Amino acid sequence: MSIFSKIKAALVGSGKTSNATRGYTRHDGQGLFVYIRCDRCGEVVPLRLRKTDEMARSEEEGYDYFVQKIVMGTQCFARMDTRLEFDRRHEIVNSSIQGGSLITVKEYDSISAN
Ligand SMILES: [Zn+2]
Repeated sequence: MSIFSKIKAALVGSGKTSNATRGYTRHDGQGLFVYIRCDRCGEVVPLRLRKTDEMARSEEEGYDYFVQKIVMGTQCFARMDTRLEFDRRHEIVNSSIQGGSLITVKEYDSISAN
């Protein structure tokens, strides 16, 4: 999947102007978790990002922070080229993951509960 995909803000309530897509981040004080599923083996890799030093400030319109990194699980050697863009409240507004996809916190919880 090489297309730069825009997650639609389907869950943003009325009256909100943010484009943020809720449900993909679990905030944790100085950091947050996102969950990435490997296209090749289906493993879900939790990725913790520190807000303080891992998120780069953006000079671009439309987002305030971004993270670019290679994510690897433990079950196969697929490398997932990941770029995430966040608004100023650290909610995801855009994502692009080659070889994987984001899942919601809810999905992750229902998988890991088993
Ligand atoms: Zn994998």
